[in-house]
Amino acid sequence: MIALTNATLVELQPARLRRATLVLDGGKIHSIGEAIPKGAEVIDCDGRLVMPGFVCAHTHLYSALARGMPPAREAPANFTQILERVWWKLDRALDAEAVELSALTGALDALHAGCTTLVDHHASPAAADGSLDLVGDAVEKIGLRGVLCYEASDRGGRDEARAGVRENDRFLGRLAKSPRPLLRGMVGAHAAFTLSDATAEELADVAARHQTGVHVHVAEDGVDAKKNGLPVVSWLEQRGLLSSRALLAHAIHVSDDDAARIVASGAHVAHNPRSNANNAVGYARPSRFGDRLLLGTDGIGADMRSEAQAAFLWAQAHRDPFDAAQALERNRAFAGFQFGLSFALEPGGAADVVVLDYRSPTPLEPRNLAGHLLFGLPGVPVRHVIVDGRVALRDGRAVNVDEAAIDARAQAAAKKLWAAISAA
Ligand SMILES: [Zn+2]
Repeated sequence: MIALTNATLVELQPARLRRATLVLDGGKIHSIGEAIPKGAEVIDCDGRLVMPGFVCAHTHLYSALARGMPPAREAPANFTQILERVWWKLDRALDAEAVELSALTGALDALHAGCTTLVDHHASPAAADGSLDLVGDAVEKIGLRGVLCYEASDRGGRDEARAGVRENDRFLGRLAKSPRPLLRGMVGAHAAFTLSDATAEELADVAARHQTGVHVHVAEDGVDAKKNGLPVVSWLEQRGLLSSRALLAHAIHVSDDDAARIVASGAHVAHNPRSNANNAVGYARPSRFGDRLLLGTDGIGADMRSEAQAAFLWAQAHRDPFDAAQALERNRAFAGFQFGLSFALEPGGAADVVVLDYRSPTPLEPRNLAGHLLFGLPGVPVRHVIVDGRVALRDGRAVNVDEAAIDARAQAAAKKLWAAISAA
């Protein structure tokens, strides 16, 4: 049992601030009030902000070792070339060790950013079999939650596509047999423009058997706007990939009518504004997705406060309405659906909380919380992180692993990976 005393509890939607003691027990919030149960470990928050952990609704841990990587020999001039010359070279060069270290370092970054659940989309075509176990073990080891999948694709031929489908099926089967509290699975697919009809049907079948949804990139670039002469949303629908359990990343190059069809299907859309800017793929006008809109980083770390700020700034630039607090809460609700838990700050809610070192120079009130969220909280250091009732970050240091040792191993693995990419 853990008692977070002198906590300033922050709820974004509806905006609420409370000074209280938050008691966590057995992975759940036990009580919110004054009492400190006998025998509880006390963590004095000294007035610091305590919030439910942040959720990243779309990321790629496999890209964590790309930071600072030498540029491609020939600079990519468009989205397809970015994939061909950078990401598809990188994921093909990943071996089991690089998969493990990417996941460990990516999860460590998420931990320091206060992100407690990662919805990941993994690819390592030369080491697909068992790769989701490596990612899951790493996420679990750091002490975070993960919703994992393998991005099946026909870009490397039918055999490779089948291996991707199999890895999703295998991992979901394994979780069904021996459930792990911090891990869930979805069915991953790269994107319509690299999927055959046959692979899409196999993925829909795996998703149906495991009662989950497909996590797939949709219309990130104009190259993925149409498939078999149909708008990509129609193709996804026709192949059984569009359902209320589906998670569609980007959804930029879709018509307003198709955006409305996505909303009507109940599928979620993960908006990734920083990645979209980085790849110059356009603006999704996220307001089109209403209450189905989530936020992801697409592999640019897992700092959801910075991603929410970027989403707000892009929306401002396009005069598109965007409510950061609502989007972040929807991310939590999505994670809650995956885990069958509530991530709200209430008794019975999941004991997934972060303590932020925020010092405000101005009054902090429920009515101006949105301003603090957008212009104060990004970049604020995370002091403690608790996931499922267990401390994963204490006083800014990871509790479960030796960070310096992981960094040293990751640096060596990154060097090897970069050399393999430049030799490819
Ligand atoms: Zn992505």
